[in-house]
Amino acid sequence: MDRGEGLSIYRRWRPQRFSEVVGQPLVVETLRRAVAQGKLAHAYLFSGQRGVGKTSAARILARAVNCLSPQAGEPCNRCENCRRILEGKSLDVVEIDGASNRGIDQIRKLREEVGYVPAGARYKVYIIDEVHMLTGEAFNALLKTLEEPPPHVIFIFATTEPHKVPSTVLSRCQAYEFSPVPEGLIKDKLLEIAGAEGIELAEEAAALIARRAGGSLRDAEVLLEQLAQAGKVTPEAVVELLGLPRLVEVDRFLSALLGKDAAAALEVVEDLSTRGRDLGLFLEEAAARARDRVIEGDGRFIPLAKKLLELRAELPRAVSRKLHLEVVILELCGPPSQPPTPVGGSPAHAERALRPEAQAGGPPPVESGPEGSAPSKPGSPPEDLLQGQEEGEGTGPEEADPWVEMLVAMLDERPSVAAFLAPAEAELVDGLLRVSLPKECRYHYESLLEPEVRRYLEDMAQRHFPGVLTVDIRWEGAEDGGPSLEERARLVAEALEGEILKEGTNAGTGRS
Ligand SMILES: [Zn+2]
Repeated sequence: MDRGEGLSIYRRWRPQRFSEVVGQPLVVETLRRAVAQGKLAHAYLFSGQRGVGKTSAARILARAVNCLSPQAGEPCNRCENCRRILEGKSLDVVEIDGASNRGIDQIRKLREEVGYVPAGARYKVYIIDEVHMLTGEAFNALLKTLEEPPPHVIFIFATTEPHKVPSTVLSRCQAYEFSPVPEGLIKDKLLEIAGAEGIELAEEAAALIARRAGGSLRDAEVLLEQLAQAGKVTPEAVVELLGLPRLVEVDRFLSALLGKDAAAALEVVEDLSTRGRDLGLFLEEAAARARDRVIEGDGRFIPLAKKLLELRAELPRAVSRKLHLEVVILELCGPPSQPPTPVGGSPAHAERALRPEAQAGGPPPVESGPEGSAPSKPGSPPEDLLQGQEEGEGTGPEEADPWVEMLVAMLDERPSVAAFLAPAEAELVDGLLRVSLPKECRYHYESLLEPEVRRYLEDMAQRHFPGVLTVDIRWEGAEDGGPSLEERARLVAEALEGEILKEGTNAGTGRS
């Protein structure tokens, strides 16, 4: 397809074939097959958030069913019918925007026309966007047509709010749910577009846009276009345009947490709060960046990513966001230990502090690995959840460790399960993956025992550990001795947090 000048990026890059629709593999494949096999329904309902490809898919379907030389269910986009529809000149493909005039006149017109055979195409296709916005009257008119649809008519309804579509209409539709487009796919698409359009787009900037687009490819494309007008698209430009927290600040915060330097982390929060910045947004960025580090293979960030993701979910319910965040910082950093050696005000501060060598306790053996368990001392980097590996297999986080790989994969698919597993120790025993949870993780343990969660875990274990047949989930309960100093501090912090949350719940629910 030639991509017309003057049109906005998202219009020019609108997918023209099912295979070009990003992030909806199941939906488009099902539709493509249905067309190829001639198994068409009279009415389709495409639901999903904005900007995920519903209308594009509807238009592709409209061409595919009318194409004079379809290719395995895909429209050719070259024949007379395809071209006419692409140019918006076909009388047989009608788009109605349910939001603009709430439809009654158009639906009346539709009812009059629907009986006539198509002018030039095989099917008359009515695409009704935001169908939930139609008035009751329009719905009733529509329903009459849906009850006895003429054989040459296909309806495609698109909606962001399927629950607002009357069930009488729903029940007559074949329903397809469009998912939010995954961040990684949005990022790749942005880079592809930038390459083709001659836009200078830094990879990190693409990742930031993708993250901020919240699953909407169209939003991401619009953002890219806005940014590209000002020239080179740098991460700083994205941060500026979107009012995001500054990355330097986020990195400083993360390195402080990693180094268990509560004072430095609290300082960042204090500073944000004095400047009236949005703590929720900041936390989201921090969680996302910690997660990126995990994906890059740095296992030390797993507990951090886990806690920050949890915190991000909790924060909206907290009575005081700032207090809640501060408690979690204390919890993550443990009791005050010797102050970490200042790394100085050099610009490389953040990056250096993110590496274990920068910590006070001297070079810890995290990277070198094979000498067994790292001695735990105050000020040394958190060894929490990877202990199992460091002791057992002796692999450092830099090497491909199946346990870390599995958690990383889970972090993407089911972050909650990854979080439940994060504090666990794992060992392989004769085709068995034994997962032992420390005693303060009773909730984690119980959650992992849920049949559905367990199945998922077994499935993942089998995929990541060759030869593993099943998973043995254990909980240390109270069999251990007294809690360590760090653990005790954590328990105190947790108790405190529990109280804060409880207050919040009471205020929120007004008691039941
Ligand atoms: Zn065609």
